[in-house]
Amino acid sequence: MGPLGLSTTLAGIVPRRLVGLRAYSGPAAVSNVLRLPERQQKGLMFPLQELERYLVPGVSAKLHVRTFDPSLEDIARAEVAFCPSPNHRIDYLSSAVRLDHAPSSSSPEICFIGRSNVGKSSLIKALFSLVPEVEVRVSKKPGHTKKMNFFKVGKYFTLVDMPGYGFKAPKDFVEMVEAYLKERTNLTRTFLLVDSVVGIQKADRIAIEMCEEYALPYVMVLTKIDKASKGHIAKQVLQIQEFVDTQTQGCFPQLFPVSSVTYSGIHLLRCFMTYVTGNCKINGRQLS
Ligand code: GDP
Repeated sequence: MGPLGLSTTLAGIVPRRLVGLRAYSGPAAVSNVLRLPERQQKGLMFPLQELERYLVPGVSAKLHVRTFDPSLEDIARAEVAFCPSPNHRIDYLSSAVRLDHAPSSSSPEICFIGRSNVGKSSLIKALFSLVPEVEVRVSKKPGHTKKMNFFKVGKYFTLVDMPGYGFKAPKDFVEMVEAYLKERTNLTRTFLLVDSVVGIQKADRIAIEMCEEYALPYVMVLTKIDKASKGHIAKQVLQIQEFVDTQTQGCFPQLFPVSSVTYSGIHLLRCFMTYVTGNCKINGRQLS
């Protein structure tokens, strides 16, 4: 074990019911990541810090790598929200084509929005990979009605998968997303997905403008970081960071790079989701 020396400590944090009982889930579970060599652990847990190393000193300081800075213990604790138990059911709830068909809910809600093909369904599957029975429904075939899909994460929060947008987005779709973003009172945070290989595209700017116009707190998740060289992704991440710093008001300053293939950044993102919905403490502090 590397100098982080945390595997033993964390053994007491990951609930006993989750150790040994769950089928081996590869890097999807924190307990398995902690068995890897330290360098690999860090790359999987804190990909932004790893990408920082590919930028020249001074430039790398522009990345807000520690705005959200949980410890490995915090990340392991937060994972409990994504592990089902008899008292904590995680499941697909319903779908809706109009806001007035959305399930009523008093628990905090978070939504995922992004262009078609940005990797949204793959990301939601990766986030819920410790709950293999959850079916991430996708309706991608042209002509099929696009829906908002609601997933209940116990009493913690509801995750809403919004339909992907693109230059062919039908009018009723824009109206649906717009109405949801504008009127959903329990919407706590919007997760806006951007493809890290190609950076911010025209269609992404439409979603950014919507979030800014409605003064929503949102955060950018950068997908597919395994798909190009680290140098290329680092350059794209820096450009997106500059955009966030200079052209947005409501966007959380720290970017969340992820890969649904390697699970890089997935654990930190789960922790952030749990934190922003008021369900876990980071460094002893809870979001009020
Ligand atoms: P959606 O339309 O936004 O739901 O996108 P999908 O999740 O269906 O992904 C679109 C394509 O990108 C598919 O071919 C996925 O296999 C691929 N993809 C998604 N996430 C990743 C990732 O993290 N890494 C890589 N290499 N490919 C990905």
